[in-house]
Amino acid sequence: MELGAVIKHNLDKAPKTGAWRYMHPEVDKEKCIGCGTCVPFCPEASIEVGSKNKEVRSKKKAEIDYEYCKGCGVCAQVCPVKAIVMKKK
Ligand code: SF4
Ligand code: SF4
Repeated sequence: MELGAVIKHNLDKAPKTGAWRYMHPEVDKEKCIGCGTCVPFCPEASIEVGSKNKEVRSKKKAEIDYEYCKGCGVCAQVCPVKAIVMKKK
């Protein structure tokens, strides 16, 4: 029996997929409740919520890294408060 392997996503080694984008997600920072639901769904691991800086952690909102975001729209689909809207590039 062959065993599978789980390969950790390493952004330092990942090819930049931002140029594939036709649509891009925009986060409405007023609507975003910082729940983090979108983070594990992003196939490019290009969403971060919150900051390592404790002073601004209370204002945690989703941030998208457009160098890697390929515009698939999954984040907009899963956001429970519809804080992400897909727009033409
Ligand atoms: S559009 Fe796709 S690739 Fe871009 S942030 Fe959302 S889930 Fe990730
Ligand atoms: S799922 Fe929506 S509300 Fe939750 S962190 Fe992502 S953008 Fe913000």
